[in-house]
Amino acid sequence: MDFMKGIAASSGIAIAKAYMLAEPDLSFEKKLVDDSVKEIKRFQSALTKAKTELEGIRDRTNKELGSDKSAIFEAHLLVLSDPELITQIEDKIKTEKVNAEYALKETTDMFIAVFEQMDNEYMKERAADIRDVTKRVLSHLLGLQIVNPSMINEEVIIVAEDLTPSDTAQLNRQFVKGFTTDVGGRTSHSAIMARSMEIPAVVGTKTVTKEINNGDLIIVDGLKGEVHINPSQETIEKYKKEQAEFEAQKAEWAKLVNEKSFSADGHQVELAANIGTPNDLEGVINNGGEGIGLYRTEFLYMGRGQLPTEEEQFEAYKAVLEGMKGKPVVVRTLDIGGDKELPYMNLPKEMNPFLGFRAIRLCLEEQDMFRTQLRALLRASSYGNLKIMFPMIATLDEFREAKAILEEEKEKLVSNGTDVSDNIEIGIMVEIPSTAVIADQFANEVDFFSIGTNDLIQYTMAADRMNERVSYLYQPYHPAILRLVKMVIDAAHKEGKWVGMCGEMAGDEIAIPILLGLGLDEFSMSATSILKARSQIRRLSKSGMEKLAEQVLQMKTTEEVLQAVKSVMK
Ligand code: PEP
Ligand code: MG
Repeated sequence: MDFMKGIAASSGIAIAKAYMLAEPDLSFEKKLVDDSVKEIKRFQSALTKAKTELEGIRDRTNKELGSDKSAIFEAHLLVLSDPELITQIEDKIKTEKVNAEYALKETTDMFIAVFEQMDNEYMKERAADIRDVTKRVLSHLLGLQIVNPSMINEEVIIVAEDLTPSDTAQLNRQFVKGFTTDVGGRTSHSAIMARSMEIPAVVGTKTVTKEINNGDLIIVDGLKGEVHINPSQETIEKYKKEQAEFEAQKAEWAKLVNEKSFSADGHQVELAANIGTPNDLEGVINNGGEGIGLYRTEFLYMGRGQLPTEEEQFEAYKAVLEGMKGKPVVVRTLDIGGDKELPYMNLPKEMNPFLGFRAIRLCLEEQDMFRTQLRALLRASSYGNLKIMFPMIATLDEFREAKAILEEEKEKLVSNGTDVSDNIEIGIMVEIPSTAVIADQFANEVDFFSIGTNDLIQYTMAADRMNERVSYLYQPYHPAILRLVKMVIDAAHKEGKWVGMCGEMAGDEIAIPILLGLGLDEFSMSATSILKARSQIRRLSKSGMEKLAEQVLQMKTTEEVLQAVKSVMK
């Protein structure tokens, strides 16, 4: 096959060699060995190779991505230097005369089981480290290579079954020109990260890893959602031309970087950015972001071996608030779960993680962790214009409880003489249909709403946002979604509150005219979508879009809505 269709996840065109990112098969058989001294030497040699490799990864990650990202590799090195573990493995080889692979796996499995049962977060984290390190040493014993995305040092396009958000965080933008995966949708977190890193991506191809071989020349067309494998010279030339045209278009939009966001008839909205780390600020400023509409704090917690300290979090929040120089910054409290895992928390596997113990549900139970984050936020509040929102709120009780905890921490800090801003707005994400339906009941208790359509769509349509097989049901323009959005906006405006949207729909060129017509106040999107959205809004009239919104709310299908919007965009 020389051409595949997938989901356009991040715009732009990449042309480079394919780099397969696959986990090697680490299976082995138990064997008895005659010469256990030689077997111990073989084990020690694999151990040394694993250490050298980890030191390289640690140093490089530290240099390119910072010490918070490299801390996990430091923890792995510590495991490899633990005499208790190493001696037990060597003793097993000697006394039972078994091969090193078997001795390693049996011993580490035992340590993992012991640590996992302990009622102590720190010890549970060690289990995750040992599991990772075992894989690395095993790969050296078996002569296989574990690929690490941060080690790539030539221009490539990553081809993988899936990329976890922490894999994505480790990609080096200088060399990784694009990526394509078998699974995922436009709102899976790897796709969202690709947009914030400005890496073209096509996800949900179903079988791209089967069709492509390492080193094949490929084109990832993140505008149309296409992947071309070993294309002809003619196709390469065509794409080089499109690449240049896309760059020229971007240069046109860039002229709007210092402009405000007004519609053609003078209605002003705010175009804000979604970020994952303070490193994303540069992109926000370069793309003319008028604020941060969603700071996904969970990335501070991911790709490492233990929870971030209050101090580390304080520094990150302060950096973002100061960097935005008084412009609004909406920080979302920890939203872990779904496809964002924290291996070191050792949460039990769930049948339906997107419907499970996640986000605010987890925070209200793990209160130490939650209070640490809230204290860091409150302390940072005096450095800018902070607004705090809670994710996945399903009931008023959850909101009241979270807010009461925040108030408690605030009182404690203030009574200790700590500076805390006294006008922090407190809002919620509306991403669960129950909350959208009773938005009127929430409206006089919250300061603002931010509609999280990535989840709201999946819960309303009962279609997993990660599952490409049901992606046909994941319909942002479905009249049911539009009606829910309208309910939230109307309820908020009745109480004089503002409403933002931080789901990917806010930056979608088909949705923007409808959202403008419905009266959305703040549109928060990947920074790279802001200038295009500003250029579009300048060409639309608010009053015209109000009429459009009225019409589409009465339509029966997504297709009808799509055609109606397209006809006004002509
Ligand atoms: C959403 O659900 O729309 C949202 C913005 O949150 P996340 O994508 O992080 O789940
Ligand atoms: Mg969400």
